[in-house]
Amino acid sequence: KLYNQVQDLKGSIRVYCRVRPFLGGQSNYLSTVDHIEEGTITITTPSKHGRGCKSFNFNKVFGPSATQAEVFSDTQPLIRSVLDGYNVCIFAYGQTGSGKTFTMSGPKDLTVQNQGVNYRALGDLFLLAEQRRNTFRYDVSVQMIEIYNEQVRDLLVTDGLNKRLEIRNSSQTGLNVPDANLVRVLSTSDVIDLMNIGQKNRAVGATALNDRSSRSHSCLTVHVEGRDLTSGTILRGCMHLVDLAGSERVHKSEVTGDRLKEAQHINKSLSALGDVISSLAQKNSHVPYRNSKLTQLLQDSLGGQAKTLMFVHISPGADALGETISTLKFAERVA
Ligand code: ADP
Ligand code: MG
Repeated sequence: KLYNQVQDLKGSIRVYCRVRPFLGGQSNYLSTVDHIEEGTITITTPSKHGRGCKSFNFNKVFGPSATQAEVFSDTQPLIRSVLDGYNVCIFAYGQTGSGKTFTMSGPKDLTVQNQGVNYRALGDLFLLAEQRRNTFRYDVSVQMIEIYNEQVRDLLVTDGLNKRLEIRNSSQTGLNVPDANLVRVLSTSDVIDLMNIGQKNRAVGATALNDRSSRSHSCLTVHVEGRDLTSGTILRGCMHLVDLAGSERVHKSEVTGDRLKEAQHINKSLSALGDVISSLAQKNSHVPYRNSKLTQLLQDSLGGQAKTLMFVHISPGADALGETISTLKFAERVA
């Protein structure tokens, strides 16, 4: 209840910040995070006259010791609203290495404790659907696609990864990429199997130096169709779980050829996303959805009655300060 009231006031967009811990053996490094207080994070910035500080405000800030369960806890009301027939987008934003995949999926050695938002969201979805089984009958199916260089590809294929897909706005079925595989799932473990296939496909063509997963957006879309057993009314909701491409700025002087092209595509789509979310937050009458494949794909799940949650990630180290500041500025613009 309270959550929905807050949602109405805030235009249905919530932005959370998460700070990654220092990794293996880096514990005595100096963090750029000065302190965290509820929704405010204060960053230490070097200045000519010693130490400076800059604060940023969000709906909530999760420090390095926050658990996956804590990070997920406020997401639960969104899952309920998907079953009520609303659309939801959950994003992970941040530079490469800041913890986006950790938040959405989890680490490589996955346990129940460290499962990310995707698994928890699906787990809750099935649980809630089951609790409503006397009044509603739910069908759940998923799609998993990737946007790389402004091209949409199906991640749930066993061959033919290179087939490009079109985005259409099919308000009838709610399927915006009708040609991508749509797989019916009955349990969280079905989804885990599919996500593993998707992860493998995403890694195709990647080498250690050429980790494509950091330069493409991946989107797991969960379509939910609920039939009211008394009235026969059909409710359709969907949830997009998006692990965005790394937000780091790449300087033209540093890269050429394919890498430059990739960087420009990422830049374009992340700023298009920022423009869409900030114009929704400001309740502008024109929302520029058409400027990127990402925003076209998510058009009917951004704005209107839809709910948006963005986790912005920062690394704590001094070497990341520049990216940290630009990430926080991006996030503050959409918050
Ligand atoms: P990204 O997807 O943004 O490139 P990753 O999620 O792959 O970043 O995170 C980079 C590394 O940091 C991975 O080894 C990951 O397991 C680890 N990591 C990220 N966030 C956390 C966290 N909150 N707690 C522990 N380890 C983390
Ligand atoms: Mg990642």
